[in-house]
Amino acid sequence: KKIQVAIDGPASAGKSTVAKLVANNFSYVYCDTGAMYRSITLKAMRLGYNLSDEIRVVEMLKDTDISFEPNAEQQKVFLDGQEVTNEIRQEDVTNSVSEIASLSGVRSDLVKRQQQIASNGGIVMDGRDIGTTVLPNAEVKIFLIASVQERAERRLKDNAEKNIHVPLDQLKKEIEDRDYKDSHRQISPLVKADDAIEIDTTSMSISDVVNEISKIIKN
Ligand code: C5P
Repeated sequence: KKIQVAIDGPASAGKSTVAKLVANNFSYVYCDTGAMYRSITLKAMRLGYNLSDEIRVVEMLKDTDISFEPNAEQQKVFLDGQEVTNEIRQEDVTNSVSEIASLSGVRSDLVKRQQQIASNGGIVMDGRDIGTTVLPNAEVKIFLIASVQERAERRLKDNAEKNIHVPLDQLKKEIEDRDYKDSHRQISPLVKADDAIEIDTTSMSISDVVNEISKIIKN
């Protein structure tokens, strides 16, 4: 049976890396919901909108298309047909996305799209509210955590590969700020679902985490 797998957790806990590999293991579809929030943030920024202007942003969503193209290495993300895979990972987008993600009209629009994508099962979806709100009936729910120090070090490594240079202390602060905003917003804040299994990845390798989740799915 093709099931739904929800993977949630705070910023830079390794959710997307792990979720993609788990999806590959089972030939499931991988859906990165953070990339959807990032894409609309990029679009609103390009249009010069105030990111807290809910009416404008929700209006913008009516003719906004977000799609994914599976890829061996990195899933490609398309915004209105144009590839934005790298743009949505830039620092300015990363540090602004929580603001747009706190708007209720934005969340209800994107949650509907995510439920549509997951409706046939055979999906691994990662985000902040997948187990609590998007797929409350998911057969497997995982909550990935890691220390702030570890997450900042992982971000530093990722950044180095992309030739982005932000000091470790600043990355730690950005991660803590984003966690704070994501866990304190009014609508579907970041919180572990009661029936989610928490995995602390601080001293685990990527393949250890992937194996542990794969075992849970097989049971
Ligand atoms: O997972 P990622 O770091 O790409 O997510 C970027 C931001 O998008 C999060 O910090 C959060 O503000 C928002 N987000 C969300 N709900 C999700 C996925 C992401 O609010 N399901």
